[in-house]
Amino acid sequence: MSSVFHRIPKRHLPVAVKGDGMYIFDRDGKRYIDGYAGGACVSCLGHSQQEVIDAIRHQVGEMAFFHAGMFTSEPLEELASILTTDAPEGLTRVFFTNSGSEAVETAIMMARQYFVEVGDPRRKKVIGRRSSYHGAGLTGLSVGYQVARRTPFEDISPSVFHISPCYEYRGRLEGETPEQYGLRTANELEQAILGLGPESVMAFVAETVTGTTSGATPPVPGYFKRIRDICDKYGVLLILDEVFCGLGRTGTLHACEQDGVAPDFLTFAKGIAAGYQPIGATMVNQKIYDAIVGGSGTFKGGYTYSGHATACAAAVAVQKILRAPGFLDHVKATGNVLAAQLKDRFAQHPHVGDIRGRGMLMTLELVENRETKAPFPAALGLSSKIYQSAQAKGLITHAQSGTVDGHVGDHVVICPPLIAAQENIETITSLLSEAI
Ligand code: PMP
Repeated sequence: MSSVFHRIPKRHLPVAVKGDGMYIFDRDGKRYIDGYAGGACVSCLGHSQQEVIDAIRHQVGEMAFFHAGMFTSEPLEELASILTTDAPEGLTRVFFTNSGSEAVETAIMMARQYFVEVGDPRRKKVIGRRSSYHGAGLTGLSVGYQVARRTPFEDISPSVFHISPCYEYRGRLEGETPEQYGLRTANELEQAILGLGPESVMAFVAETVTGTTSGATPPVPGYFKRIRDICDKYGVLLILDEVFCGLGRTGTLHACEQDGVAPDFLTFAKGIAAGYQPIGATMVNQKIYDAIVGGSGTFKGGYTYSGHATACAAAVAVQKILRAPGFLDHVKATGNVLAAQLKDRFAQHPHVGDIRGRGMLMTLELVENRETKAPFPAALGLSSKIYQSAQAKGLITHAQSGTVDGHVGDHVVICPPLIAAQENIETITSLLSEAI
């Protein structure tokens, strides 16, 4: 009998004992192919990556940890230098956290401190979207919109205004082009800012490509350009959360590169150290850094383990692999194979309403009726059945029932480790097809 308080206590959890490349093995010797990168896009390099293991061993042997408020360290400096060298324009500084939730919370706290430092303390309101996930703490839950998780805590959470997500499958009207839909949806931000009072709005937070809540949902072309213009027009800071979709997952280093925008803050976690160590990061533009450092002098947030030397050493090794010649080309090519195979297997499936995503982050949205897009009744527990069936067949995938912008639906997210070979993609999509 386990005394662990598991997050989903009723789910049967096999005991994982070994990872190797694309595979995980349980205590009974059963092998699972990893279609979910260690869970939620974390293990982007697969399992038991020797260069990362060696980097961690070396760092632990030299100096595992010292509080980064007292000493900086070589891995901490090197990681910051790697991340800022090829960051979106203007993001010249990076602050380290332990997780994605903390990275988003740090961006929000820095945004607030920025406006206090520059003498504009009325700006404190945050706008999010009715789709995203931004973390498990009160800040993340209130900015995000994972209904089931945020509801019990709404009364004690900061209040946040939400606009529609960019969710083409259900949002685009008949006769509207994707570009027109993108502009119409983005314009909701302007209406929200005007409604709340531009002088009171501090930041807009969005996932560039949504991950957990609504399946992988990429924006339509032009959407984020319009969002950036609106933020600039009203002096609102743009926080892009790439905890799920960043660092190579979509085929470019940063997902927002493909949308042609640079945010004021960019958050990472998961793939930054590929699951070998917990670490997150908040990238910040120079204007915000200067206002805080030139004002009161210190950022008022931060965590004991911010800039943990061993976590940074693991992340340096991971980030060097992601940037090795040919790596992102491999991700793009494998992402194309994944999209093509999903289309081959599911485009005619009577219960697959939408196949969408970007790079190695894809989703199937399941519906009872393709014509009306009506979802299956929640009581059927379809997602959970698919999850279990896939697991029994030796495939780890993510099937989840959730509410996106008021629509209940079943989504299957497929995001294997970025090292996946073409034959791994064939195995994953074939097992998924059997499970569905
Ligand atoms: N933002 C996004 C987009 C995420 O997907 C997640 C985790 N699923 C988080 C923030 C929170 O990250 P963590 O669980 O590391 O706190």
